[in-house]
Amino acid sequence: MHRCMLRCSLPVALFAALAGAQTGYTDTPMLPGQPWHVHDSARPRPPVVDPGPAGQPVPPPADAVVLFDGKDLSQWTGGKAAAQWKVENGCMEVSGSGDIQTKAEFGDFQLHVEWATPREPKGHSQERGNSGVFLSGRYEVQVLDSYDNETYADGQAAALYGQSPPLVNACRKPGEWQTYDIVFVAPRFGDGKLLAPGRVTVIHNGVLVQHDQPLLGLTAHRTLPSYQPHGRGPIRLQNHGCPVRYRNVWIRELQLPPAADTAATETPKK
Ligand code: MG
Repeated sequence: MHRCMLRCSLPVALFAALAGAQTGYTDTPMLPGQPWHVHDSARPRPPVVDPGPAGQPVPPPADAVVLFDGKDLSQWTGGKAAAQWKVENGCMEVSGSGDIQTKAEFGDFQLHVEWATPREPKGHSQERGNSGVFLSGRYEVQVLDSYDNETYADGQAAALYGQSPPLVNACRKPGEWQTYDIVFVAPRFGDGKLLAPGRVTVIHNGVLVQHDQPLLGLTAHRTLPSYQPHGRGPIRLQNHGCPVRYRNVWIRELQLPPAADTAATETPKK
């Protein structure tokens, strides 16, 4: 190897290693039952799958509750203040002072959300098109521009943030509409204790990316998730400072058969 190449390539390799290290952490706790730290920079990134072109908005089924139909934020609140996101051209866009959440609360549900990150990408890693869909107001399905955007595996689009990367990366290009279809089975609590963890299935642009994945607890950054007992909760959308747009949001509450945890406590009938 030419001496100059040796001299020049070493700093490049070092720079690449350092840049990679910036997209994750190794000083965080180990996730229980997994060989990875929270936001582990060494955790393999899911393979990329092209989901095909974006389509038209998916019409809500007859029994769905429409949470956003492109007209107004009447179903949403900013918490202590009114929801202040911009509504324009049939979309709502992250803006104003913070997150917004539904006025209504839900238990188990099927949720449909359409979202788009800015057409002109700005920033990198977690600063590019970051938002999120918080199930029951507590458990984040990450929204991020994960198209050619290096970040840690459990922080990319469709990750259960800080816990479970998606099975594959099915992200479309920035500016294109994307869909999440999410099935959420809420955690079960009894006497202030966890009886069964919450479970999440996510289909991203028609591609299965989370399959009945158990939640480890409340979404956390750089720390281990843990549970706090709760009842029904809202759908919360995150303001992470990026002008992400949403449209066509609807939900179907589910009446599921008794969960295994409650069935196990019943006396068998003979
Ligand atoms: Mg987020």
